[in-house]
Amino acid sequence: MSDVANEYQGKATMEKITSLAKRRGFVFQSSEIYGGQNGAWDYGPLGIELKNRIARAWWKEMTQLHDDIAGLDAAILMHPRTWEASGHVENFTDPLVDCKKCKVRFRADQIPPENLAAKKCPDCGGELTDTRKFNLMFKTHIGPAEDSASVIYLRPETAQGIYVNYKNIVQSNRMKIPFGIAQIGKAFRNEIVTKNFIFRTCEFEQMEMQYFVKPGTDEEWFNEWRNRRWAYYEKLGIKTENLRWHQHGPGELAHYAKDAYDIEYLFPMGWRELEGVHNRTNYDLTRHAEYSGKDLQYIDQDNNERYIPYIIETSAGLTRNLLMILCDAYDEEKVADKGNDDDWRTVLRFHPAVAPVTAAVLPLMKKDGLAELAQDIRRELKEDFTTDYDQSGAIGRRYRRQDEAGTPFCVTIDYDSKDNGTVTLRFRDSMEQVRVHRAELAARLHREIKAYRRMK
Ligand code: ATP
Repeated sequence: MSDVANEYQGKATMEKITSLAKRRGFVFQSSEIYGGQNGAWDYGPLGIELKNRIARAWWKEMTQLHDDIAGLDAAILMHPRTWEASGHVENFTDPLVDCKKCKVRFRADQIPPENLAAKKCPDCGGELTDTRKFNLMFKTHIGPAEDSASVIYLRPETAQGIYVNYKNIVQSNRMKIPFGIAQIGKAFRNEIVTKNFIFRTCEFEQMEMQYFVKPGTDEEWFNEWRNRRWAYYEKLGIKTENLRWHQHGPGELAHYAKDAYDIEYLFPMGWRELEGVHNRTNYDLTRHAEYSGKDLQYIDQDNNERYIPYIIETSAGLTRNLLMILCDAYDEEKVADKGNDDDWRTVLRFHPAVAPVTAAVLPLMKKDGLAELAQDIRRELKEDFTTDYDQSGAIGRRYRRQDEAGTPFCVTIDYDSKDNGTVTLRFRDSMEQVRVHRAELAARLHREIKAYRRMK
């Protein structure tokens, strides 16, 4: 990097994030050797660790810390009537126009209204087609016959799997209202415009929680869940100046929603939705009761009442959270004035709860038994933490490599380690180093993870 600071120095841009993600094995383009597949991405060794840990942090927050929320993993393939009841067959559409000249396809609500009115392509000035509705669900066939009776959809959201199981969970787990059901899983949407890396893809993962409440208490619970979800991102160390609320106006509200807020994040391309908190009323369960012919009322035996619950939904993208966390963690920092490449470091300031590697073990030298000792110490840490081991190159360079992967702690083994059993514990964010006895190391790491506060 040159000494002359340019406009982008120190800042996360989508180009930098995409290239770091590929270089370090977070995210690769799907089927890259064939030129790539639009709207699909593969998660490499660091990416899958990060994704699993983000999912784990959300799961812990939603289930382990809430006695009133149960987990579920519903199938991707559901009875096609589900999607008629949910309104997806009829309403899950985007307005679409094509340019007859340059053949580019646009979402009609994403091009300037004057272009739409004049039917003029915003790219080349060519003539646009009429707007038509395009359903975002992927449709396929189940079984050998490709007829209308065998049509099946890849689920476009995980929520419906929760609604159709709500009675099962009430009965099997004796859940009492208010209670929630949490689920993480794949969803598929035939998105027209997939750009900005993994922000909007055709195959993605969602982390959804549906909270079932008594009608009349829905507004209170809606506000409660808005507060809880905001607090969750704060706890993960996300910079709050990069988060804001956006309330859906009358034109934006989905057909099922009474009120809806998005938590938006300031991505490099601007403010965009990260998670939705929706008051879905009793729409979903009423429709499923109607379409399935099953009684989906909740029976409140204590108060001798029965009703269709209202649902407060918190719906976050897992893969979109991963992009957000990469952007939020990204930092370039001037660390010394050596006048060479080493004076800048790229560092991913992940919260240790989500960092792909918690501790890297680095022998100062390969020789004199230091490598063996380091391997031994790594073995001790493995049971509790994800670890990495690196013995090649100058120690400064190895620290930089770990900084760029977002590893919060490095453990360095030197000659003193052989003599007195102490190691150097180096902190990613402050670059501070302390001496710790190897017998204390695991406990110390646990304490540091618990006490972690982002400093920058
Ligand atoms: P948009 O209006 O941007 O298409 P949406 O409002 O339809 O999105 P929801 O249906 O509320 O989105 O989905 C809930 C969450 O799922 C979103 O906040 C987002 O994090 C994630 N999500 C939705 N669509 C995609 C996608 N195509 N790729 C990645 N994540 C997605």
